[in-house]
Amino acid sequence: MTGPSVFTRILEGSIPGDIVAETERVFAISDINPQAPVHVLVIPKTEQYRDVAELAAGDPELLAEMVALARRVADERADGEFRLIFNTGAGAGQTVFHVHAHVLAGDLEEKSLVG
Ligand code: 5GP
Repeated sequence: MTGPSVFTRILEGSIPGDIVAETERVFAISDINPQAPVHVLVIPKTEQYRDVAELAAGDPELLAEMVALARRVADERADGEFRLIFNTGAGAGQTVFHVHAHVLAGDLEEKSLVG
């Protein structure tokens, strides 16, 4: 896709979106297709990084800021406990190539994805 990502367009206000939290470099929106009682996407304002591996290599501090905002969202919207998912690559289910973390919280059906 050319042009700004869907998340950048929400941040800029050119398409609708529910921004639930924000810092200088990171913002959070409600997922349009929620998979849990709380399903929020935490996203850097820059779309320079396509996925979490690129972000970790290029700006680990920004990745830490994303985790901190995920924690804040889980504190404010659930009991502070959360699952953090980064789909990385189309084969792993990634559809938007502007790095984002899925924050799932609330009454999660499966207690664990592994083990
Ligand atoms: P991915 O599959 O790339 O890990 O996650 C992309 C997520 O973005 C999906 O969970 C999808 O529901 C969400 N999404 C896609 N388009 C929009 C939109 O226009 N608004 C919002 N709020 N979420 C979106």
